[in-house]
Amino acid sequence: LDELNQSELHWVETIGRSDTCANCGVPKAGVFCSECGQKHITARLKFGELFFQLIAKLTNWDRGLAYTFWMLLIRPGTVARDYVVGKQRPYIGPLAYFFLGAALQLVTLWIVEPQLRLMMTQSVRMEPGQLPPPGIQRLEEILGEDFASAFASTYITTLQQGYSYVALLFFCIPFAFFLKFLHGFVGERFRFGEAMVFALYSVGQMLVVTAVLTPIALRIGAGVQAAVGPLVYIAVAMRARSGFMRAAWSSRVMTFLALLFSAMFFFIAIMVTLIGSFVVRVVFAAQANARVLNSRAPTDVQAQPI
Ligand SMILES: [Zn+2]
Repeated sequence: LDELNQSELHWVETIGRSDTCANCGVPKAGVFCSECGQKHITARLKFGELFFQLIAKLTNWDRGLAYTFWMLLIRPGTVARDYVVGKQRPYIGPLAYFFLGAALQLVTLWIVEPQLRLMMTQSVRMEPGQLPPPGIQRLEEILGEDFASAFASTYITTLQQGYSYVALLFFCIPFAFFLKFLHGFVGERFRFGEAMVFALYSVGQMLVVTAVLTPIALRIGAGVQAAVGPLVYIAVAMRARSGFMRAAWSSRVMTFLALLFSAMFFFIAIMVTLIGSFVVRVVFAAQANARVLNSRAPTDVQAQPI
C-alpha cells in the first residue's frame, strides 16, 4: 500500500492490509505482534465475531478457573511451581484465586450464619431465673441487648473480616515469610514472592475446600466443624508441597512449622479483632447512651415546675 493508493481508499478498505501492527506500529511477524501481543487483524469485523470473541473470552476465563481448581486439587504444588517458572496462562493468578476462596467463604458464612448464631447464643444462655454476673449485667445495660447475642454478632463480623483481609495480612504473608525463612535452613532458597505464590494458592484452596465442607460439618456438630478447618489446612498445605518443595523429611518439617507459626499468627490476629470489635461495640453503645442522656437533660429541666 503506497501513500497515494492509501489516500484514495476509504479507511475500512485498508483494514488488515498494512504490514505494521495496528496497535503499536511495529512490523508484523506471525499472528500476534511481537512487541505488544495484539492479535493482527486480517479481515473486516463481522457482527457474529463480536459475540464469538466475548464468549471465547468468558469460556477461556471459565476454563482457567475450573482448570486451576482441578489442578490445585490433584497437583497443587505443580500449579504454584508452573506459575513461578512462567507457565502462567492456564491458571487464574494466585491473588485472584485467594480472593475467590475468600469470597466463597463469605457466601458460606452468609448461609450458615443463623445456625452459627443460634449455636453461640445457646452455649452462653443462662438457666431460667439465673442472673448473669454483675459485670455482665452492667454490660447488657450499656449494650441494650443480651450479652450472648451481642457477642455472637461480633463473632460473625470478626469471621467476615477473618476470611478477607485478615487472612491475607496475618496468614498468607506470615506463611510465605516462614516458608522462605525455614526452608532456607534446609537449602531451599525461595524468594519471598515465590513463597507468596505457594502461600496464596494453598490458602486459596483451603478457603475453597472449607467453604464447601463447613455447612456439612456444622450439620454434624460444632466439634466436627472445629476440627475440619485445621485438618483441611494441614492436608492442603502438606499436599501442595510435592512439586514445589523437596520430598525430604527435613523439608516437610519446615513446611509444617511454617504452617503452625502462621496459624498462630492468624489466631492471635482473630482474637485481637474479636476483642477489639467487642470493645468498640461497647464504647459506641456507651457513647450513644451518653448522647441520649444529654439530649434528654434540657427537656427534663423544662419539665420542672417553675
Ligand atoms: Zn503491536
